[in-house]
Amino acid sequence: MKIQILSEEMASRIAAGEVVERPASAVKELIENSLDASATEIFISVEKSGTSSIRVSDNGEGMAPEDLNLAVERHATSKLKVDEDLFRIATLGFRGEALPSIGSVSKLQVVSRSPNAPTAQKLCVEGGKKGEMLPTAAAVGTSIEIKDIFFNTPARRKFLKAPATELSHICDAVNRMALAYPGVHFRLEHDGRTVADYVSVNDGQDRLYQVFGREIAKGLAAFDWRQGELAAHGFLSSAPLSFPNARYLYTFVNRRYVRDKVLTHAVLQGYETLLMKGQYPAVVLFLQVPFGEVDVNVHPAKFEVRFRRQSDVHEAVARAIRQALRQEAKEPGPRSGAISSSSFSGVREVALPYGLSARTAPDNPAPTYGNVFTLPPRAAAQEGFYSSMRVLGQILGCYLVCASSQGLALIDQHAAHERVAFEKLRRQMDAGKVAMQNLLIPQTVRLSAGEMMLLEQKLDVLRRFGFDLEPFGPDTYAIHSVPALLPEGDYSQVVRQMVADLAEVDTSSKLREHLEDRLATIACHSVIRANRMLEMDEMRALLSDLDQIDFATQCPHGRPVLIEISRDELERMFKRVL
Ligand code: ADP
Ligand code: MG
Repeated sequence: MKIQILSEEMASRIAAGEVVERPASAVKELIENSLDASATEIFISVEKSGTSSIRVSDNGEGMAPEDLNLAVERHATSKLKVDEDLFRIATLGFRGEALPSIGSVSKLQVVSRSPNAPTAQKLCVEGGKKGEMLPTAAAVGTSIEIKDIFFNTPARRKFLKAPATELSHICDAVNRMALAYPGVHFRLEHDGRTVADYVSVNDGQDRLYQVFGREIAKGLAAFDWRQGELAAHGFLSSAPLSFPNARYLYTFVNRRYVRDKVLTHAVLQGYETLLMKGQYPAVVLFLQVPFGEVDVNVHPAKFEVRFRRQSDVHEAVARAIRQALRQEAKEPGPRSGAISSSSFSGVREVALPYGLSARTAPDNPAPTYGNVFTLPPRAAAQEGFYSSMRVLGQILGCYLVCASSQGLALIDQHAAHERVAFEKLRRQMDAGKVAMQNLLIPQTVRLSAGEMMLLEQKLDVLRRFGFDLEPFGPDTYAIHSVPALLPEGDYSQVVRQMVADLAEVDTSSKLREHLEDRLATIACHSVIRANRMLEMDEMRALLSDLDQIDFATQCPHGRPVLIEISRDELERMFKRVL
C-alpha cells in the first residue's frame, strides 16, 4: 500500500458530490477502508447515534507514517495507480475523498500502524486543518475516531433525523457490509451497549442468521448461478415468505452494496407471478461481473453503478432468480413455509418434504401388498407431493381437505386451478402456439367505439393468446375461437377484459413484460369457481395436475394454493405442547 495524490485530470473525472451526508455515511466509508486494508476484525463504536463520536478500529494492514500523512489529503489514495484503474475498480474505495471529507466536517483522529513499524502514529484533522503526526502506542491496524461530526456545518447538522433514525442508518450500513463479508468479525456498540456482534463465519448462510435473525433467515434458501462471465449467488425467500416493502432486498455487485433499479427490477421479475401485488421477497443477491463491465464511479456515495451491458445483466439476474425459485418449488427445504404473511411474526415453519414418500408416512395407511407389487417402481418414484396426499373431502365449496405426510393440508381449489391453467397456457405460449377451440356458433361481443379501435389494432396479439375474432357490424365483433383451456360459457367477458388489459400496454415490447398478466386473466376465467362440489376423481386430477407444474404453491396472483398445518402446529394449537 502506497498512497499517491491523483493527478488533477484523474481527480476531475471522479464522481464528485457529498460523501458524508450523515453519520452512517462516515461509518460506511471507514468500514470500506478497513475491508480494503484486509481487516478481519472491525469494531465500530458510536455515541449519540454517531453525532457525538464514531470510532472504527481494524486489524488491517495499517499505514506507514508517510502514507498516514497523505491519507487525509484530498484525492490521496493507494487504490488507483494508473488511469486505467478507474475502469476496473476492485476495491471498495478509490477516490481518496473519504478521510479528507470527514476531516473537513469533524474532529478526526487517525491512529495507524503498519506491520513493520516500531510504533503507531497519530494524526488529527480538525475542520480540515491537519495537525502534527505523533508516535503513539497501538497494535497493528488502524483506528479512526470522528468526534462532533458537522460541528462546523450547522446546516448539515440541522438536517439530521431523529437519533433513532440515524442509528438505524448506521446499523444498516454495518449489516450490508457484514452480509458481503461473512469472514470478517463485525461488532457495533452504541453508547457502550453492544448492538451487533457478528463473529467470523465460513458460510454466508450463518451470517444471514446473525444479521436477520432466525425467524427470517430460516426462510431463505441458497442459490448459485453462473453463465459465462456473469455469476449470481445468494439467498432468497421462496414465494410464501414476503414483506410489504423491499427492506429485505439486498443487491451487491462485486461485493459492493448498491441500490440499483435494474437489479431490483430483475429480481422482482424473477418472482413475477409468485408474489401478490405490493409484496416483496427477501433476497440477498451477490452479482459478480468482470470489473471492466461495471462502472462504480457514478455516485458520490458509490451506491449506484452502471453496467456496460445492462440488459444482459437484467436478463441474467431474472433468470438466476427464476431458476432458483423453480428449484425451490420442486424441492422445498424444511424452511419453506406455505403460509404467506406480511408480518413475519405470523410466518410458521411448514415442511413440504417432497422426498418423503407418503407410503411410509405415519398418517397414511400402509398400502396393501397388492399395491406395492403392482406399482411400477418408476411411477412410485414419480409420485409427487400433491398426489401423495389423501383427499378427505371438500369444505365450503372451495377448499380441499387432505391428509399430508406432515399433517393437515388445505388447498384452495380456485387458486390451484388457476395456477394449473396458467402454467399450461404459459407452456403453450412458450412453445409458440396456444391450443384453440373453434366455436360452432360464434359468440358476439359488443364494444364501445374506443374498444373497437383498440381491438382492431390488437387482433394479432389476441390471436397469439388463442382468440380469433372478426368484425361483425359497426360495434360488434364475432368470437370464432378461444383458448382450448376455457370452459364452455360466455366468452364476451374475457374478451372484453383482454381488450381492457391490452389498452394499458401500448408497445409490443411491453407486451412481453405483461404477458404473464394476460395469461393470468385467461387462467382466471378458465377455472372452477368457488362453491362447486368436486367429485373425488376431479380432486385427484387437480392434485396430480399440481404435481406436473412449476410453482404449484401460489396462484398466478400470488395467493397461496396450499396451507399445511403440521403435527407440531396441531399439537401446539391443542396445547399438547407449549
Ligand atoms: P480511498 O478509500 O478512496 O482510497 P480514503 O480517503 O477513504 O480514500 O482513504 C485514503 C487512503 O488511506 C486509502 O487509499 C488507504 O491507503 C488509506 N487508509 C484509509 N483507511 C485505512 C485503513 N483503515 N487501513 C489502512 N489504510 C487506510
Ligand atoms: Mg475509502
